[in-house]
Amino acid sequence: MGFRKTIQLFPGLVARAALVTSIFVATLSVAYAWGTQGHQVIALMAQSRLTPQARAAVDRLLAVEPGETLASLSTWADEHRDQSTASLHFVNFPRNSCVYDEQRDCSDGRCVVAAIKKEIEVLGSNAPDDRLLTALKYLVHFVGDVHQPLHAGHLDDKGGNTYQLQVFTKGSNLHAVWDAGLIKNLNEEPEPMAARLQGLRSTFPVTDLDPVTAAQESCMIVSMPGFYPNRLVELPYIEKYTPVMERRLVAAGARLAGILNSVFK
Ligand SMILES: [Zn+2]
Repeated sequence: MGFRKTIQLFPGLVARAALVTSIFVATLSVAYAWGTQGHQVIALMAQSRLTPQARAAVDRLLAVEPGETLASLSTWADEHRDQSTASLHFVNFPRNSCVYDEQRDCSDGRCVVAAIKKEIEVLGSNAPDDRLLTALKYLVHFVGDVHQPLHAGHLDDKGGNTYQLQVFTKGSNLHAVWDAGLIKNLNEEPEPMAARLQGLRSTFPVTDLDPVTAAQESCMIVSMPGFYPNRLVELPYIEKYTPVMERRLVAAGARLAGILNSVFK
């Protein structure tokens, strides 16, 4: 895997730490979701798993805005995020339960679980093509978001955004580490990363396409002992959670493909 590759390239602990530090320091900006790379990797993995029918339907919609791809559209929803859509990118669970309760967790329909369900419905309707394309843009993004564990975390720390910590010697927050830090640390371009992660999928079959399941899984990861580091992210945390992060990307790609394949049968 990429991290091991990094270790082989930089066998000394000091050199490894220096590499990891320098990459993390370069990526400490606050972000809203999987960074660009995470969303693109998910879209690329999904694209490669589309049935011929789904691929044709997706291509037909993409042609409404020539030059766009599933990957290039995957961050559109963050670029067009405003007050009216901000809450559609996440869902909050209480600290003591990862069992989704619509009344409690999404009573107004303003959460990522409801947003995914709604956009699936639109995509399967006979709405005009520009609305179908918008549904596709939202779907490719929100299915990614719901798999970022901290998009199904807790309100009291805004999904880790207010959980301040040090990454080696630099200040950051836990949400930023999961959005982009762990991914950027692998130092791979999206295409080779997507191709490498496809190899993980056979050990991780994903057949349940329900966004509720994805949200509950994310919440359970956030609830794992040690997920919240003791205000310090260093190599042990990175080594432990990089494979967890990679499996979330794989699951998101597989589910996005599954959803599109079932909409465009
Ligand atoms: Zn988002």
